[in-house]
Amino acid sequence: MKPPSSHSNALVELVGVTHRYNRRETPALVNVDLTIEADSFMGVVGPSGSGKTTLLRLVAGAISPSSGIASRAPHLSIGFVPQVETVNWSFPVTALEIALMARVDRRVPWIDAETRAEAAEIFELLGIEGMQDRHIRTLSGGQQQRVFIARALLSGAQLLLLDEPTSGIDARTRHDVLHLLDKLHANGLAIMLTTHDLNSVAAHLPRLVCLNRSVIAAGEAAEVLLPEVLEATYGAPMDVLYHAGMPVVIERSPLM
Ligand code: ADP
Ligand code: MG
Repeated sequence: MKPPSSHSNALVELVGVTHRYNRRETPALVNVDLTIEADSFMGVVGPSGSGKTTLLRLVAGAISPSSGIASRAPHLSIGFVPQVETVNWSFPVTALEIALMARVDRRVPWIDAETRAEAAEIFELLGIEGMQDRHIRTLSGGQQQRVFIARALLSGAQLLLLDEPTSGIDARTRHDVLHLLDKLHANGLAIMLTTHDLNSVAAHLPRLVCLNRSVIAAGEAAEVLLPEVLEATYGAPMDVLYHAGMPVVIERSPLM
């Protein structure tokens, strides 16, 4: 079957995608149309339970739509960076071992010098040099996340999917993560991330999707960060101000 691609640069295309985890339940996602292009740097925002992680899993191909079509470019390599708080580190494994899971050749069960050098270069690019032999459990959330990014880069990913990459990390690390993603995007990697950080993350991304089980709006930050779109997405009244040309979302306090 030919993928229904109207976009020549599309890496992933969802057309009319609905996803139900269980047959009787209300769907987690309804009738989603979404195209991820080779030069995408896209953020998905929405309240908890709005289907952000489900959308990433559908894009990754980890789950299949209940109805509709999810198509991926042939031979597309996708790297998935999970939300670090949700990972269970009950077994001892080093940062390098995690990163090289992408490259283990079952016929040659050791790591050659060339792969080691490549890994060292990527760890340096990501600012986690010197952490290769640390147990993953002893690293901070931001560092663990970079180990997963290293794994994606070592696997030759063309599309990087990150689930809440800035949740549970401090402002400085959040800034570093965004800067790093911007650098990877400039080097040609397509990026899609979920976030509930509207002002310090979403507003800075070139393209946003507001999700609440279906796509409420998609476009540039200034086009979608509007009070009516945010209210439809979050079900709560919000105001939008402009500061230095950037939209700033303000939640209205019920005490106001
Ligand atoms: P978000 O990432 O925006 O918080 P999710 O995609 O995790 O949202 O969840 C969307 C909906 O699907 C929620 O109602 C959630 O309870 C449900 N859901 C998520 N994962 C599963 C699962 N593995 N089995 C059943 N329901 C799930
Ligand atoms: Mg989630």
